Amino acid sequence: MEGKIYEYLEKYNYENLFFFNDNETGLKGVVCIHDTTLGPATGGLRMWTYQNEWDAIEDALRLGKGMTYKYAAAGVDLGGGKAVIIGDPKKQKSEALFRAFGRFINRLNGLYITGQDVGTTLRDMETIRSETPYVVTLPREFGGAGEISPYTALGVYQAIKACSKEKLGTESLEGVRIAVQGVGNVGYHLVKYLAQEGADITIADIDNKRVQEVADEFGTTIESVERIHALDVDIYSPCALGKVINDRSLGELKCSIVAGSANNQLAEEKHGNFLDELGILYAPDYIANAGGTIFDTDRIKPGGFNEQRGINSVKRIYETMRDLIHISKAENIPTYKAADLFAERRIESVGKAKQLRKQVSIFN
Ligand code: NAD
Repeated sequence: MEGKIYEYLEKYNYENLFFFNDNETGLKGVVCIHDTTLGPATGGLRMWTYQNEWDAIEDALRLGKGMTYKYAAAGVDLGGGKAVIIGDPKKQKSEALFRAFGRFINRLNGLYITGQDVGTTLRDMETIRSETPYVVTLPREFGGAGEISPYTALGVYQAIKACSKEKLGTESLEGVRIAVQGVGNVGYHLVKYLAQEGADITIADIDNKRVQEVADEFGTTIESVERIHALDVDIYSPCALGKVINDRSLGELKCSIVAGSANNQLAEEKHGNFLDELGILYAPDYIANAGGTIFDTDRIKPGGFNEQRGINSVKRIYETMRDLIHISKAENIPTYKAADLFAERRIESVGKAKQLRKQVSIFN
């Protein structure tokens, strides 16, 4: 992309790209607005030590576009955007920096709404909130949804059930063999749901202490991190790293379903095609892991944050996954492509409805 920004913006239909600079606090950042058809561009704020400025711009653009698809497919009325701050989150954070960021996005007047992401915390969001109302991820006492990982896990659990119904003929997971890779924030809560239903669970994590604690709490088997993806199980659930479906791992998979929370599970799109050819049902990552986002953004709905309504919306990931399986079969395309199509169709149809409303209002 380097040196060809407009070509890139045009190719993927981006609306805006904003640069922020503040000499006083050292803030250097980028905000990308991908598509606002469904609502204001929303997406987390990432703080990271990028190799160079192009990497930061590219990250904002790539992630912002991803958010458009994530919200569209999840039925959330928000557009896609993302912000990045170039800097080391361990060393360069300060109240002044986040307040400066808050003032910058406040100038955008609601075109972009920010939230927590890699390198930022709920605490940072509180600081930004003191300068601007355009913050979605907030603690409960600030009117937000608070910690979202349990709801991400609930969404993954729903996607797993929908896939199980399709592949194993039952949405009950009792006795179903599941390998969970990574028992951090999301993996832990997922294992809890699976254990409650009597699934036959195996877990792995690079954190030996953590994996032992989770195994003790839920009575699961432990496997090595090198072997967890290759176990003879019904479901492989990646809840740690991205790119786990790659040239090497594909030949070793013995599961019939891949469904987990990790972002960017396919190393490349072609690996989604290979899964399809192997007859392995893949729950597209941004569909399966949307639960936290769905729960988090409930507060933009009329009346503000409502926990039960948020939970009900997260549970609809079951139906979304079922619809994707339907599209995938009807159109003979892999599920990851069906997910993109599903999102694009919603943007198109809502976009048309919006135009219609505009036309009607001209005559009112
Ligand atoms: P986390 O950091 O709390 O947990 C990740 C766990 O994976 C840790 O326990 C870590 O030790 C383990 N791990 C790291 N490398 C591993 C390896 N090679 N093999 C096995 N285990 C390994 O993160 P999280 O919040 O639970 O998120 C997990 C994944 O889900 C990430 O890819 C994240 O981007 C994605 N995700 C999370 C959320 C959320 O709500 N937290 C939402 C959407 C997507």
